[in-house]
Amino acid sequence: MNFVGSIEKRVLKTIKRFQLASDEDKILCAVSGGKDSTNVLYIMDKFFPNVEALTIDARIGNYSKENLENIKLFCSKLGIRLHIVSFADEFGCSLCYIQSVLKEKGLDLNSCAICGVLKRYLLNKKARNLKSDFLATGHNLDDEAQSILMNLLRGNLEMLSKLGPKSTSSVSKFVPRIKPLYLVKESESEMFCRSMGFPVQYQRCPCSVDSYRGSVRNLLASYQKTNPAASWNVVQKFLKIRKSLQANFSTQNLGYCRDCGEPSKNISCRTCTIIKTIKSKSL
Ligand code: AMP
Ligand code: ZN
Repeated sequence: MNFVGSIEKRVLKTIKRFQLASDEDKILCAVSGGKDSTNVLYIMDKFFPNVEALTIDARIGNYSKENLENIKLFCSKLGIRLHIVSFADEFGCSLCYIQSVLKEKGLDLNSCAICGVLKRYLLNKKARNLKSDFLATGHNLDDEAQSILMNLLRGNLEMLSKLGPKSTSSVSKFVPRIKPLYLVKESESEMFCRSMGFPVQYQRCPCSVDSYRGSVRNLLASYQKTNPAASWNVVQKFLKIRKSLQANFSTQNLGYCRDCGEPSKNISCRTCTIIKTIKSKSL
């Protein structure tokens, strides 16, 4: 079997092992324009009958523009229905503007943190409105190993317990998320994408250079030079303790935001808190 076939086979095995999706499900793939999510869209569309794509346009200059063009091209070639949601349409401003206003107000969050909160909010809301059974993301093995280490280094076991190939919740407005590339390394994902000649941007988002994830990624990458199985080991050991971790935090379920009605741990969700802070600028 060739390389591309072997990756497809591993993804299908992952889907089966963790019961990520079946032929009856409507699967919405969250596509950023990067290699991982484009690979997920391709593989899910190849093997499942009901697959659509969703992209969030954060308006990060040429980076977002090029991603959007690539995704449109890819979806039209494969005949996949594409949904586009933009920060500007939903929130009335771009990510850069939101970050600068928050900074003025003394909330110096990095743009990855803000973008992550707003993207997750829009992805869930849109996926639910489209009546999707699952939202598939491009997270790969190395992303997961980084997330596990980040939560361990922060000592946040509750967040750690939420990781895994499939995230579900007791609240009905939460669309379960699945990670079909859970056991595919970043380097393998890149090789798959290059072999297939998909139109993607290989460089990271220009806003992400200073993030906490970046430093954990570098740490893990340098450690992997002497121990190439490091990410694999981190994820495999996490899978062994995941059930008991989840049992510990099972009572701390999500509720709903009193302002927008979306799933939230707090009285007001983080997106509403951000948007209220932005709007209060002009008062
Ligand atoms: P990131 O947190 O940027 O590493 O992205 C993780 C996953 O979230 C990606 O693999 C995509 O599935 C999804 N994602 C990230 N950015 C976007 C976007 N702009 N639109 C839709 N999905 C996205
Ligand atoms: Zn809210």
